[in-house]
Amino acid sequence: MNILVTGGAGYIGSHTCVALLKQGHSVIIADNLSNSKSETVMKIMDIANKEVTFYEIDVTDAEAIDSIFRNYKIDGVIHFAGLKAVGESVDIPLNYYYNNIVSTMVLAKACQKYNVNRFVFSSSATVYGDNKVPFVETMDLLPTTNPYGETKAMSERILTDIAKANPEFSVALLRYFNPVGAHESGLIGEVPNGIPNNLMPYVTKVAKGKLEKLRVFGNDYPTIDGTGVRDYIHVLDLAEGHVAALDNLKIGAHVYNLGTGQGTSVLELVKAFEEANGTEVPYEILERRPGDIASCYADASKAKRELCWTAKRDIISMCRDAWHFEKNYKE
Ligand code: NAD
Ligand code: UDP
Repeated sequence: MNILVTGGAGYIGSHTCVALLKQGHSVIIADNLSNSKSETVMKIMDIANKEVTFYEIDVTDAEAIDSIFRNYKIDGVIHFAGLKAVGESVDIPLNYYYNNIVSTMVLAKACQKYNVNRFVFSSSATVYGDNKVPFVETMDLLPTTNPYGETKAMSERILTDIAKANPEFSVALLRYFNPVGAHESGLIGEVPNGIPNNLMPYVTKVAKGKLEKLRVFGNDYPTIDGTGVRDYIHVLDLAEGHVAALDNLKIGAHVYNLGTGQGTSVLELVKAFEEANGTEVPYEILERRPGDIASCYADASKAKRELCWTAKRDIISMCRDAWHFEKNYKE
């Protein structure tokens, strides 16, 4: 199939493009490179040993998107493009609402016009808010504490309504847990802008000596050791989850958690990282970070049942591959 991958030069998108190419799909990437580099597209082709078509365009640009649909027979869309920094979304909400919602609507309109009925959307476990763990797809969504989360919940609603109105439209709403790790080649991985907000990229920078020590945000949560618990998932498993979602699309809107179902605390992750890589990660305990919840992990049984997909890689391989990428990465 010809798959339009928006945000395909980004972290999760690039790994998914490799997985799609491996499965024999053709890939057209639309990315404005606001948080990625064109070299990544070359690296995708190197790893997969296949060509991809790349358009440096903004997905909110309806005319540019229309021209892609006009020029190619698009069979399906995977929509990764979006802004994703939770803290930044509080400071510049309009950019987040505009970019993340308008891009979804522009793509949905093009799909309607060109009768493209396969759509996969990058949502996030953040839409569950502070529900009780494990998070199950049937739970009522709770308000998130930030505009980023709201853009995901709204995009889910928009796509669900479109599926209700169009009996031929199929959309998978994929709620990711915490993607980490990198391709085993070390060629593609996560490259955060500036000082990382997320745990794994912060840990790799500490291990590399670029940052002095990890700041552990709170050790008084009701968790195994008091530090926050998350469901870390290897980005390669996540990428394969997208191929499975595309292969198993059915009419209507269907929500799937893409996680391992396993919770790992901050200190457990630090220990796994040290064990996997034989490096030290010095840390200090600080106050809780505002907006954080104690625990977030998936009930991953629906994706297993309906998509025949489960995450296979463990926390040690996530830490090993994240470090392998960071070590090789030239700033
Ligand atoms: P990323 O920033 O690495 O990739 C997003 C890509 O989209 C970037 O290459 C960026 O240049 C591009 N982009 C952004 N706005 C665009 C626009 N208007 N037009 C064209 N391109 C645009 O992020 P990622 O981690 O790969 O995340 C991919 C998707 O998954 C995002 O929608 C994100 O919100 C969602 N998600 C990410 C995580 C995570 O922890 N990484 C968790 C849950 C959900
Ligand atoms: N965390 C931390 N120090 C950091 C970054 C994150 O202690 O420098 C903790 C954070 O409080 C949370 C966990 O690590 O408990 C995962 O945070 P991340 O930002 O990676 O993901 P999210 O909170 O968005 O799920």
